[in-house]
Amino acid sequence: MSENKIDIGILEEKCSWLLHPRFFPSKIGGKPAWLDLQNLPIPFVLSCKKCKDPLVFLCQIYAPYEEDENSFHRTIFIFICRNGPCCQPNSSENFLVLRCQLPRKNPFYSYEPYEENENEVFPMDKWANLCDVCGIKGPSHCAKCKKVYYCSRKHQILDWQKGHKEYCSVVQQNPTSCKINNFIVTESGKSILFKEWELIVDEEDEEDKDNVDVNHEMEKLRKLMQEKKAGSLDNVSDTELEQYTRPLPEDKVFNKFSKRVARHPDQVLRYDRDGHPLWITGNSDSFIDIPKCQYCNGERQFEFQIMPQLLNFIDVGIDLNSIDWGVLAVYTCKRSCNGGPSYKEEYIIKQDLTN
Ligand SMILES: [Zn+2]
Ligand SMILES: [Zn+2]
Ligand SMILES: [Zn+2]
Ligand SMILES: [Zn+2]
Repeated sequence: MSENKIDIGILEEKCSWLLHPRFFPSKIGGKPAWLDLQNLPIPFVLSCKKCKDPLVFLCQIYAPYEEDENSFHRTIFIFICRNGPCCQPNSSENFLVLRCQLPRKNPFYSYEPYEENENEVFPMDKWANLCDVCGIKGPSHCAKCKKVYYCSRKHQILDWQKGHKEYCSVVQQNPTSCKINNFIVTESGKSILFKEWELIVDEEDEEDKDNVDVNHEMEKLRKLMQEKKAGSLDNVSDTELEQYTRPLPEDKVFNKFSKRVARHPDQVLRYDRDGHPLWITGNSDSFIDIPKCQYCNGERQFEFQIMPQLLNFIDVGIDLNSIDWGVLAVYTCKRSCNGGPSYKEEYIIKQDLTN
């Protein structure tokens, strides 16, 4: 059987300090570990095209172009709007993908890799003020203590309600007290940020493992997708319920997808630069038109995809109002060009099991 060797990503728990920008992590959730620490995207760029709320960091993949000295360090970031109504089938309007790259010699990081030392001093506020809640650029600060920064009025209000109210007066009385945010900012009981994980990227196994029952794995995945669609069944009508519990139609693409995924059932990423996405269904073929790079007008190529399994690890809930996807396929500038802003927008396709 001839098929491309590809890399897959699985998740591991890791102490947050080891996912600091100086270690160039691939990671899920928490705050973004920015690459260029100074020329960050402004909050307007990182707000939802539909509801205007701030987008939340979903994941980042560290993927240098070894052959290009401008991309010695290179990271792709994905942001998402957490509001369920902004998430529509086969539409990626609630997402934003940004690419950033740096030469080995740059103003932010040492030329040689950093040692894993928790106590190493690495002042981030030297470069930019970050929102205390979500970690994107924070142009405004708390008017009272002038110690914490925010991307938006929304995050400032949430922070005030969830703990800064008490903390603010402490800081005002004792300006030297160190700035620690040790409470979790939530909205409607959900944490604003996704649970943080390290993303470990490694080669996919070549053949189907003998000891994995492919049919069983396929059935498990099929069920999972149905459960996601069904969500909380309490407020679903009978007709809807019937629609959700009906077996999915025979779908060759889905069968191929499930068979391949069964090699590593927990994979959340498939990295295959200049390869092809592993689509989840053959139902939709309306999205093969990939726009050219808006910075160099060059071609884009497929780089990686995020798998639906990720939804199980980031605690998004499974009600009908939660965010959801089948696969997320990311296309980036083939040359990984250098012009334009430091964080360049790339292209993402969301494919769902439903049309
Ligand atoms: Zn939105
Ligand atoms: Zn924020
Ligand atoms: Zn304050
Ligand atoms: Zn380009």
